[in-house]
Formats: sequence, structure tokens, C-alpha cells
Amino acid sequence: MTFHSMWTELLTIGRSSASGGYRRFAWTSADAECRAWFKAQAEARGLTYELDRNGNQWAWLGDPAAGDAVVTGSHLDSVPDGGAFDGPLGVVSSFAALDELRARRAEFTKPLAIVNFGDEEGARFGLACVGSRLAAGELGAEQAHRLTDGDGVTLPRAMEAAGYDPDAIGPDPERLGRIGAFVELHVEQGRALDLSGDRVGIASAIWPHGRWRFDFRGEANHAGTTRLVDRRDPMLSYAETVLAARREAQLAGAVATFGKIAVEPNGVNAVPSLVRGWLDSRAADQETLDTVVAGVERAAREYAAAHGVDLDVVRESFTPVVEFDHALRDELARILGRDSGKDTGLKVPVLGTGAGHDAGILSGSIPTAMLFVRNPTGVSHSPAEYAAEDDCVAGVVALADVLEGLACT
Ligand SMILES: [Zn+2]
Repeated sequence: MTFHSMWTELLTIGRSSASGGYRRFAWTSADAECRAWFKAQAEARGLTYELDRNGNQWAWLGDPAAGDAVVTGSHLDSVPDGGAFDGPLGVVSSFAALDELRARRAEFTKPLAIVNFGDEEGARFGLACVGSRLAAGELGAEQAHRLTDGDGVTLPRAMEAAGYDPDAIGPDPERLGRIGAFVELHVEQGRALDLSGDRVGIASAIWPHGRWRFDFRGEANHAGTTRLVDRRDPMLSYAETVLAARREAQLAGAVATFGKIAVEPNGVNAVPSLVRGWLDSRAADQETLDTVVAGVERAAREYAAAHGVDLDVVRESFTPVVEFDHALRDELARILGRDSGKDTGLKVPVLGTGAGHDAGILSGSIPTAMLFVRNPTGVSHSPAEYAAEDDCVAGVVALADVLEGLACT
């Protein structure tokens, strides 16, 4: 099986003909097809297939119980109308890298496993990285049992319908304890590699990020009869705050987005009484993020006061920075940077990312690292997500080099 043939097989699963995007949500038939594909790939290579208590799939070369295993993989599920690469590129590249190592007649001194983590995107139940969070004990079984999809189906019922046992879910320290290093290859979800002209990069950290709710409260009134000077219109201060967020983020080299808004009474001929906007902001470090959010809030308070509008700001969620294991990251840089006698054309920039991953969840329990493959438009979570096959193959070679360096020495 070449990279190309594996890739082509997966392309048809869960694809919407209307949007051209993927709808591979946890515990649906598209998810089951992806899982069957993973199992078939494991069996075709003579690997030992395991399904863990949380629905994550593993394919082992060597004895899983031996310990200090090197594990690679990613996820096969998608966001609504997602692209083909986010997740599957890491899983397909893992199998292709193993094939490459076998062609090189590499001799493994450690067990190697390929993993497909379940429900990474959280598209159905609203929480990302459910499979890895459960395994790492970051999400409790009781909490997971309460997760409900948009149709009112709970996670346990969805798991049962797919033939899995929801009562089995929970922390899996024994399984994670077998792992000495986890390396996730992923399509880049930005343009850093395109701008630097590199095919492959190494992750430094996942940026700290959070969500803040801004409630601007004014006074509902008639859009035709209320004089401008008499209005307490929260839309004006909200609009000015959106511009302030853009300005603060630009100044700090961060990102800030108001992507969701709720308006009351939400009438075309009414001055609004409430504008509720959600700010998502991310930055390379905590201090920068604090500066951006404080700047946006200060501006919002000034604009609100100027329009006679009340403002409440609530932090709804926050995830601190995830620094990938420095020793493992340096080891990857050493492996990929060394003169191997082959001209792989690889240089290896080290870059941060604003997106969350299973590798970030696991980094609290085990040494983890990530490789990124160039995405020329930087677009992700959209059918336009793309990586050239040449770059994908360079990613496979880089991953094979890394696995060889970690598991064959
Ligand atoms: Zn992903």
C-alpha cells in the first residue's frame, strides 16, 4: 500500500457531495467506516490490533507490554464539512512511515504503535479530544456520560448504537504508561511553512487560548422614532470593540476573533437592548494573551461608557500554553537536521500553533512532539484544506526518520 493508494481509499468516506467537505463525526457510520479502514490496515501489516476502553484504536509492532514504546498517529474524525487532511494525514503517514522503515530493513529495539484517537474534533458532542482526554484522566467518565449531541443523543447511547460499551470508558494510565514518546504528524493549520519555504516543521508549543463573553446592555427602542442622541445602542460599542480586538491583536502579533454574536431583540427595526459577542483570542505566550484581552476589555469599557451602555465580561474557557517536551523536540530537530547522506531537501523550522491536538492533551502525561506538513493556503477545517502530495511524502520520510531515530537505536 503506497501513501497514494491509502489516501485514495479514505477520500470517499464521509464526504458530502453537496459541500465537498467531510462529515466524519464520532460514533456515526462514517466514523465506523474509518475505523474499519484502520483495522484493515493494521491487519494487512500483521500488526496487533487493540481497541481501548475509550474507543481509541491501536496497531502494535512488537510487545505492547514491553514498555518505552514509540507511538505515532492522529485522528480520522472531522469537523462539519472539514478538509481531507486534518487528522487522516497523520494516520495515513504513520502506516506509510512504517512501510518505509520495513523497506529500509530497520531493526526495532522498542515497540512501535500507530493510534487513531476517537472524537478528536468534538464536532458531535462539543468537546474536543474526548478519546485522549478520557485516557489521560482529563475528562471523567461521569462528565463524558453527560455529553449530548444536537439531536439530544447522549454519548453513552451513541457509543452503544455503534457497538461500544460506554460503561468501560475512563482513565487508562496502564496503557499510557507503556509509551515512551508520542509523535503526531499533522497538516499545518496556518501558513508559516509556506512563508518559510519548508515542507516540514516541528512544533514548539500550542498557544494559550481562551474565550470571553462580552455582554453589552443598552435600551431597546424604535429604529424609526428614536433620535440618535437619545439612543443607548449596544451595537455601536460592540462594533467598535471588534475593531479594537483586531488592532490589539495586530499590535501584539496575536490573534483575536469575534466569530459569534447574539442580539436582542434581534429585530431589523429595533435598536438592540443586548449585544452578546464571543471573543476567541490566542497568542504565543500568556503575557501577550493577557495584554491583548486586557486591551480589548479596556477599549470595550470606554466605548460602552461613551454610549451609555453597561458591559459585563466573562471568561468562559481557558487553556494554558502547552510546551511540547523540550528534549524530544530537540531530538526530532537533531534527527531531521543531521546529514543522513540522503538529499531529502528537509530543513526543520520549529513553530508554534494556535490549534489544539491530542498530542497537547497527552503532553501532560507522556513526552510528546508534533511534525507539521506544509499547507500552502493555510486553510483548515474547510474543504479547501490542502497539502501537495510531494509535501505529504516528505512528511512520511521525516516521520520515518524520526521513528527510526527513536525506536531503532
Ligand atoms: Zn487535527
